[in-house]
Amino acid sequence: MDRSLSNIPVTTLKGVGEALADKLAKINIHSLQDLLFHLPMRYLDRTRVTSIATLQPNTDVVIQGTVAACQAVSGRRPSLLCRVDDGSGAVNLRFYHYTAPHKNNLRPGTEVRCFGEARQGATGLEFYHPEYRVIKPDAPCDIQETLTPIYPATDGLNQQRIRNLCEQALQMLEDDSLQELLPDELRQKYQLGPLVAAVRLLHQPPQGESVVLLKEGCHPAQKRLAFEELLAHNLSMQLLRKRAQSVGGFAMPPTNTLTANMLRTLPFDLTGAQQRVVADINRDMAANVPMLRLVQGDVGSGKTVVAALAVLQAVENGYQAAVMAPTEILAEQHQINFANWLRPLGISMAFLSGKTSGKKRQELLEKIASGEAMVVVGTHALFQDDVVFHRLGLAVIDEQHRFGVHQRMALRKKGEQNGGLPHQLIMTATPIPRTLAMSAYADLDVSVIDELPPGRTPINTVVIGDDRREEVIKRLRSACLEGRQAYWVCTLIEESEALQCQAAQVTAEQLRETLPELSIGLVHGRMKTREKADIMQAFKEGHLHLLVATTVIEVGVDVPNASLMIIENPERLGLAQLHQLRGRVGRGKIASHCLLMYHAPLSRQSRERLQVMKDSSDGFVIAEKDLQLRGPGEVLGTRQTGLAQFKVAELERDGGLLTAVRSAARELVERSPQSIEPLVNRWLSQTDEYANV
Ligand code: ADP
Ligand code: MG
Repeated sequence: MDRSLSNIPVTTLKGVGEALADKLAKINIHSLQDLLFHLPMRYLDRTRVTSIATLQPNTDVVIQGTVAACQAVSGRRPSLLCRVDDGSGAVNLRFYHYTAPHKNNLRPGTEVRCFGEARQGATGLEFYHPEYRVIKPDAPCDIQETLTPIYPATDGLNQQRIRNLCEQALQMLEDDSLQELLPDELRQKYQLGPLVAAVRLLHQPPQGESVVLLKEGCHPAQKRLAFEELLAHNLSMQLLRKRAQSVGGFAMPPTNTLTANMLRTLPFDLTGAQQRVVADINRDMAANVPMLRLVQGDVGSGKTVVAALAVLQAVENGYQAAVMAPTEILAEQHQINFANWLRPLGISMAFLSGKTSGKKRQELLEKIASGEAMVVVGTHALFQDDVVFHRLGLAVIDEQHRFGVHQRMALRKKGEQNGGLPHQLIMTATPIPRTLAMSAYADLDVSVIDELPPGRTPINTVVIGDDRREEVIKRLRSACLEGRQAYWVCTLIEESEALQCQAAQVTAEQLRETLPELSIGLVHGRMKTREKADIMQAFKEGHLHLLVATTVIEVGVDVPNASLMIIENPERLGLAQLHQLRGRVGRGKIASHCLLMYHAPLSRQSRERLQVMKDSSDGFVIAEKDLQLRGPGEVLGTRQTGLAQFKVAELERDGGLLTAVRSAARELVERSPQSIEPLVNRWLSQTDEYANV
């Protein structure tokens, strides 16, 4: 145990002083164990010399031969061209920056060994600025015995340095110096080799190991570590869950008083899927452990009603409920919806956003603290410290992926003041691919609303170039004059909200000029809350034909009569975002259309993405495609989601392990609970909020 490398600080290595230790600490390397889990991202094969005749472009190789010619070539970019011949063939090394000694070094007749990647150049295959070494006739051959690791680049830590540190650490690595935390039977069952062997192999793969397999992350040693890492993450989430549940919660059995009243006034029946999810929630909230439930449902599947019923279940038990949305617009819309449903039942509400201030805010805070306001709707302003609830029993978080694990924690803590945790209902319209959901939400139970309300007609999606803008405007005009309503969405490449708003303003001006017979509204993120709400309301009530908007309307906005959407430059948006936007139409009985008006030329990937939108309206299919095309960090936005940054694992590549990881986690909890904490500590850095279990 004492020999465990997790207890030995990096400063014990030769050459590691305070400055270097600080640099290492920045990338979360403190102990020798941390260092050894800092794995190469790829390898070079310098274990054998490749003959020039068999050179392939774009692969790293070692060649060795005699300099046949070496001369400066003039031209637009002068360079030094050095021809190396090994008997099987010849190839050029090209240096754009060179000095006289450099040239002297490579005099004809010199024997050189050169490392690098041959690429197609002016004279056939060429090596650009390769690493090379002059071979003295009687010097021993220094071909390497293992593949050469290339570590992730880090500020102030070059390859040589990090390689040296890892080599030192590897010399101290004994079979028992990294604790094997997975019990034998578990390793056998999931075919996982010994940890130390895997670590050793990955830092210094012996000659003959496949560079390609390693590069793709498919080597059994990599799978071994990825498995353990995913397991650690899964366990940390489960610990969070256990923690939350051990605090205890408040039992709120359905009394079916308020809920039954609301259901009676709804103009529709719940779908089967909604009923199922409502039943899940009823059951969870009736228990005296806090509910931790994620409701996934595609856009338009009717999550809001489900949330309202949960809110009523809290209220009919005498508890307050908080409903939180990620944007002002969405919060306002919830406020309107909830008010419509709840006010007739005599329930008092409060609305709190970041823009609520001064006396108004004070008043609201008092109402919330006294319990006079039973239902509070708002943005993340609800997280602020001075917001104190009288008796918070339920927190609903809508559009979860914009919050994330951290806020989830913050909210749990907020409720804890009352001697138990509030129930939590998290709703997301972004259909998260199963693999991601398993990883990001291992602390939550999941219900899925997998059915849309009846009577929806599918949206017809058309991909069209912006050279046909006039035609599009004509079509828009006639649709509006027939009494339909439309959205015109402006996007921008830059994350600059200001520019996006400006683009929307300009577009609105132009459209007003071209279409004087239409009444056209404009919403964007920089408008006052009141102003936005008024315009949304006017649009909802049918006073506006056309709403020009930025992507602020992406989530939640619900105007069933709107049946046409034009999205400018859709190629700038991710698939998930496009799906969300498009979900603003197709909410009524009329057939809806979505025009994706791109700007040529499109990259191949953009073309593919727009085609996906055209072909599918299923959020899950789109999300899976998005994951394939862009990767999980992009899909969910790592920082926003609190989705973990992995050291070894990659979700697209290792997603297939997750099912096994889940069952392994369960087995470990049962059979080897003492391994959990060290596993979590090994893999999750202390800066990860959920590592602190
Ligand atoms: P989302 O899941 O995207 O949040 P909403 O809750 O906004 O969806 O619901 C979309 C629309 O469908 C709303 O107009 C809502 O009133 C309506 N709706 C919800 N449930 C049903 C149902 N069971 N039958 C008919 N319409 C429904
Ligand atoms: Mg919604």
